[in-house]
Amino acid sequence: MIRDFFDVSDELLALDAQVLADCAPLFASIDETRNYNQLKMLKAFTECKVSATHLVGTTGYGYDDAGREKLGEVFARLVGAEDALYRPHFLSGTHALTVALFGVLRTGDTLCSVTGRPYDTLCSVIGLTGEKGCGSLADFGVNYSQVDLNAAGEPDLAAIEAALTGKKSTGEGKTICYIQRSRGYADRPALSPETIGAIAEIAHRVAPGMIVMVDNCYGEFTQKVEPTQMGADVIIGSLIKNPGGGIAPTGGYIAGRHDLVELCAQRLTAPGTGREIGCTQDVLRQMYLGLYFAPGVTAEALKTAVYAQRLFAKMGFRVTPAYDAPHNDIVTSVECRTGEALVALCAGIQAGSPVDSYVAPEPWLMPGYENEVVMAAGAFTMGSSIELSCDGPLRDPYSAYMQGGLNFTASRAGLLLAAQKIMNGKN
Ligand SMILES: *Cc1c(COP(=O)(O)O)cnc(C)c1O
Repeated sequence: MIRDFFDVSDELLALDAQVLADCAPLFASIDETRNYNQLKMLKAFTECKVSATHLVGTTGYGYDDAGREKLGEVFARLVGAEDALYRPHFLSGTHALTVALFGVLRTGDTLCSVTGRPYDTLCSVIGLTGEKGCGSLADFGVNYSQVDLNAAGEPDLAAIEAALTGKKSTGEGKTICYIQRSRGYADRPALSPETIGAIAEIAHRVAPGMIVMVDNCYGEFTQKVEPTQMGADVIIGSLIKNPGGGIAPTGGYIAGRHDLVELCAQRLTAPGTGREIGCTQDVLRQMYLGLYFAPGVTAEALKTAVYAQRLFAKMGFRVTPAYDAPHNDIVTSVECRTGEALVALCAGIQAGSPVDSYVAPEPWLMPGYENEVVMAAGAFTMGSSIELSCDGPLRDPYSAYMQGGLNFTASRAGLLLAAQKIMNGKN
């Protein structure tokens, strides 16, 4: 069927058939999770009594924006949290994480990352990279410590326990436990909600009351439970990833303990004003719709990931995770080994995108990143990575990080175009 529309060689078509057959049992399990999460979603909407009036936004200060508050309530219920901010006023995932970190940390406190070095853009927020004096946590006297992952790239539970034991968990000089669920740009598996639960259990046991904060980007709806249902105190994510369902045009969320969400609201707007303001203009309907669609869209992205993992592994690339490994995020990394192969992969995916299919991606130095990055992004929402996208920093081993796919049928075509470009390059 694909050849009715796109040029794919006989060799690649045969490979595609094998890959699809191998993926079938995994697709069945992805569908099972999707169905579970869709019913969980419907239940949250009905229990929160979402009504047509909530879909209409406000202007100006946005006082008494019932739709905005209801959306937070739906999300909180969905993820088993006491409270949530789920808003267009978070400009990105990094911004939502920044609000959360500055919201709960004070001078003299310590941020302890227990999953190794955080995602690139967080490093300048913390003050590990970037210029002194630009307003990082370090500039405000917040300390940083880190527990590295073990040799297998998994959290080192014994080292985490040792690092958190005896630490102050509340008040002045407290330490917070910070977990990154997704691999980001690192070569390690994403964390399951169960593993996050095990870390939270340790933190709460050795330091009662310690705040366990989770960067949940890319993890939402990949499993039947979210980290807040497993003991995390606060989770943070981006709406141009999984929970926006490809429909929310912007935004982010912070969900968790009520007192922490309140602190974050004070930092998001202004101390004293907090969550009371923030107009939603015309965006609420898209945010509700996107959230409602998110379990299904995440399932499409997971199928795209599993298919890509099998396809590129069969083509001889080192791919992580393995297609039949547990999936706790929607990210696939493919070691391209050379800059040329990385750019070719991105170019193929770009060519199979619904928007801007005719442009060729070029490497550039993106603000907040340490190396040049090449990106394929033919998306309806600029920078959206719940839509099929591929990017990678130009540094050894030239890994491409691929994620998203609103629709498996179309994403599979995009991946085949990328595979074809790589095969053609070899001839
Ligand atoms: C995407 C991502 C972020 C940052 O999100 P942006 O929206 O790109 O700012 C942070 N952490 C992880 C693990 C991510 O995947």
